[in-house]
Amino acid sequence: MARYTDAVCRQCRREGLKMFLKGDRCYSEKCAVDRRPYAPGQHGQGRKKPSEYGTQLREKQKARRHYGVLERQFGLYFNMATGMSGQTGDNLLSLLERRLDNVIYRLGFAMSRAEARQTVTHGHVTVNGRRVNIPSFLVKPGMTVALSNKSRGNDKFKTVIENNASRPIPQWLSLDRERAQASVVALPVREDIDLPIEEHLIVELYSK
Ligand code: SF4
Repeated sequence: MARYTDAVCRQCRREGLKMFLKGDRCYSEKCAVDRRPYAPGQHGQGRKKPSEYGTQLREKQKARRHYGVLERQFGLYFNMATGMSGQTGDNLLSLLERRLDNVIYRLGFAMSRAEARQTVTHGHVTVNGRRVNIPSFLVKPGMTVALSNKSRGNDKFKTVIENNASRPIPQWLSLDRERAQASVVALPVREDIDLPIEEHLIVELYSK
């Protein structure tokens, strides 16, 4: 399974914002965006006015990196989004939000989406009572997402869930924290997604 393996913090520095890709470290003074608030690389501190294309590209990269999705798969999500009724940008974000790894992160079962992805691939997650180890699995209303019985009793997960207890749960998910399980009550809409992404720029980029 292909995945990004380069330095993670470079991605935040490139986009110029904290994307909380590393869990605990993101909340500490070690955060690379706080320590070096400029783009990575030799010319990172040079000032350059971005072109229209550059602005659109950055927005697409930002969305892709937030959700930990590679280029090709992101393109597939865009194609799916164009085939759905409604606004393509909203559809695109809704599809990304419905990924199982994102759901695990949103529910506070992992500190970051990368950790959530690993939680899924290592078989700690069930959907409707059956183990699912595919991070890109798309959840639908009516489904129940949970930590497996064995993982629920694991101290590591108990600590993570406790530490994330204050994380707001989006309205489209209904969480039973005690049982480490949640129901999908609706499809996510744009208002449920708190990411600073201007999706219309992504649509413009792919429409060229
Ligand atoms: Fe981004 Fe977290 Fe690294 Fe800071 S510590 S740059 S928020 S991944």
